[in-house]
Amino acid sequence: MKNKYYITTAIAYTSGKPHIGNTYEIVLADAIARYHRLLGEDVYFQTGTDEHGIKIQEKAEAKGISPQAFVDDVATEIQRIWDLMNTSYDRFVRTTNPKHEEVVQKIFKKLYDQGDIYKGEYEGMYCTPCESFFTESQLVDGKCPDCGREVKQAKEEAYFFRLSKYQKRLEEYIESHPHFIEPEARKNEMINNFLKPGLQDLCVSRTTFTWGVPVSFDTKHVVYVWIDALTNYITFLGYDPDGSGEQFNKYWPCDLHLIGKDILRFHTLYWPILLMALDLPLPKQIFGHPWLLMSSDKMSKSKGNVLYADELVDLFGVDAVRYYLLHEIPFASDGNITIDLVIERTNADLANVLGNLVQRTISMASKYFDKTIHKREEFEEIDTPFLEKIGNLNEKVNKKMECLAVSDAITEIFDVLRASNKYIDETTPWILAKDEEKRDRLESVLYHLLESIRVCAVFLEPFLPETSKEILRQLNTEDKSFGYGAVSVYQLNEPQVLFARIDKEKLSKDM
Ligand SMILES: [Zn+2]
Repeated sequence: MKNKYYITTAIAYTSGKPHIGNTYEIVLADAIARYHRLLGEDVYFQTGTDEHGIKIQEKAEAKGISPQAFVDDVATEIQRIWDLMNTSYDRFVRTTNPKHEEVVQKIFKKLYDQGDIYKGEYEGMYCTPCESFFTESQLVDGKCPDCGREVKQAKEEAYFFRLSKYQKRLEEYIESHPHFIEPEARKNEMINNFLKPGLQDLCVSRTTFTWGVPVSFDTKHVVYVWIDALTNYITFLGYDPDGSGEQFNKYWPCDLHLIGKDILRFHTLYWPILLMALDLPLPKQIFGHPWLLMSSDKMSKSKGNVLYADELVDLFGVDAVRYYLLHEIPFASDGNITIDLVIERTNADLANVLGNLVQRTISMASKYFDKTIHKREEFEEIDTPFLEKIGNLNEKVNKKMECLAVSDAITEIFDVLRASNKYIDETTPWILAKDEEKRDRLESVLYHLLESIRVCAVFLEPFLPETSKEILRQLNTEDKSFGYGAVSVYQLNEPQVLFARIDKEKLSKDM
């Protein structure tokens, strides 16, 4: 039996085209999903779009089209970008799916029938774009704590979800499952800012607009968009209060919900309590990733500092953009992106370290051995630390990936690539080539290098899938074993440039 691994991104809100900051999450999730497939696990990777709510209704009205037509356009665009970034999701889900809507209604009814949802009246400060009520004490400088906009006094008949009933259970759960919420700093934020002051019952229906899932037994209400959105993680797997499907039983609970740090509250408080009320197991981990900033500023259309994935891919290619996102954004703090920084990393790491190594090695093998290199059981002292480095890579990458330190995992691979370049400088194959008696030694050196490149290519697959494939094609091998010495003879293809050096001056003329 293969281990199962269920990973999700948050579903993207269909209010407009996603910028590169919004694209970071799907690429990060993709790297993690691909890594678990590389380990031989049975991975299910879900992403998609969140399509209800007043913001969408208003945007559609402004455009003079139906909300459905509006979300159809945006969802298509989002999926196009996810595909452009070569992300390997198994399913792209949309919350306007009729089956999903039907199960959301059933869930709402079930919770109402069992007394976890009740009807009441809400009076408080309301943020229209966020569709959320807040108490005075939750406001930040009198404004919405989520988006910073003005709030207004509002009163409406509404349904409420008894969060308070489950507060104690959730606290105990978080306490006894130290990795449930990551990173640690975010977990403490949730405990101190929300759990400790005490959870208030959550308003889970709206009557001020219609673009949502109607409450089945009281149709002037629509279900709060977050209840609708969060349940995507189970509805599309086939969860049904009347009896769930096989896929749900196989993959639930989720192994990882990867989300932005700004929506942690919904995922670590409301979502677990909803699952408890449905008597379902909780996800194993919720990870709030940092943001990708534009020159230390949050990207936003109004600030005019937005970069889009397709523009970057046109300039640099998919894998260079993936490399930047996956390697340059720290594990727990926000990262920066600018065109200049992408050029720098592409040239320094991808062209100079990786591209150069592959090109040099295959070229030497072509020149000295007509592209055929045999495995030789002949080692010198200098080989030992180098071969150990290759042998240890599996364990090192695994250790980093276990705690989702994707950037550090890539650093481990590049350490071996750098060591390989150094090994070339130290063994000086071009000098060995001048001495006929050193021919076996020369072949050994090249074999060690080719094995190092092959193993690195195998581990690069989750991060740079096309590059990994291209390296293995140039090496002319399909052997994906993790350790040194798997291939008995290489019969190489022609070397091809993997990453051309980018000329900054020339690029700015083209832009
Ligand atoms: Zn707000």
